[in-house]
Amino acid sequence: MGSHLKLTVKCPACGGSLMNPYVLVDDLPSIHLAVRREGTAGNVYLSQLYGSHAKRFENVEDIPGAVTPFTCPHCGAGFRAHHPCECGAPMVWVHLTMGGTVNFCTRNGCTRHSLEFEDPDEAFILFQSQDETGLG
Ligand SMILES: [Zn+2]
Ligand SMILES: [Zn+2]
Repeated sequence: MGSHLKLTVKCPACGGSLMNPYVLVDDLPSIHLAVRREGTAGNVYLSQLYGSHAKRFENVEDIPGAVTPFTCPHCGAGFRAHHPCECGAPMVWVHLTMGGTVNFCTRNGCTRHSLEFEDPDEAFILFQSQDETGLG
């Protein structure tokens, strides 16, 4: 597990942190996304470890293959990315707190995700930060 990057992310619309220190996934604070499906509000908590697909569902059915419309738990903004996933589902994107973005597929069970950096320095800062213990 030591080789996994830890990602801390924020909403691209309101800048609010999406990290939830109370719900742990992979024994770490999770990435909290709000979900609204058929009029029911729920939450999904994703692992902050890049490459891990562990997640927890709260008040949302864990339906394999279902596409989940994630929104910001603070401002309600959607995170629709420019390009759909190869599986046809929408991709969403969120900002990394240290710069750069992470894109991931909204289909439950689809494992496609990617990191993007506009500036190579952002990637450097992220990788360098992994040497430090604890969460900033
Ligand atoms: Zn927001
Ligand atoms: Zn996909």
